[in-house]
Amino acid sequence: MKIDLSPLYQSDEVLREYEVSFGRDRLNGWKVLDPEPLVLKAVYRKDNRTLEVSGSGRVKLRMPCDRCLKPTEVPVCFSVDTLIRLEDLTDPDGEPVDCVEENTLDTDLLLEPEILTNLPMKVLCREDCKGLCPGCGADLNGGPCGCGYTEAPGRMAEAIRQAFEKAGKN
Ligand SMILES: [Zn+2]
Ligand SMILES: [Zn+2]
Repeated sequence: MKIDLSPLYQSDEVLREYEVSFGRDRLNGWKVLDPEPLVLKAVYRKDNRTLEVSGSGRVKLRMPCDRCLKPTEVPVCFSVDTLIRLEDLTDPDGEPVDCVEENTLDTDLLLEPEILTNLPMKVLCREDCKGLCPGCGADLNGGPCGCGYTEAPGRMAEAIRQAFEKAGKN
């Protein structure tokens, strides 16, 4: 979504609120599900030519479960609080800002990195997801697969324990 900032620039110091919503269908390849509207607050200061944009919101992304790959709705809360120096379009760290161009603020470019930094560490379709069988790829949430692989981790652990024991004796 693009916001025309020119009315904001025509005053000495002005605060404006804009109701926006994340306008992309996909983020990083994941489907964006019904993004909720959020209010962005923009403060323009003429004396030092800065624009401060802040607000917080929530989107839902459809991401694969880390264990069984099932598409899972993941709510992501994010907030933004950015100061943009309009002279050279940089943030206070001197990093270039790409969401403002001339008199236009591209809210999707502004929000995208904020959403990405707030992704959960782990995506699970449910707390106790049993994942896929490493042997046959069956979804173990539907019950044991019967391919016999489930015992392998036990055997592996035993082999490692024995190897350590042996190494300790040498
Ligand atoms: Zn799962
Ligand atoms: Zn299996």
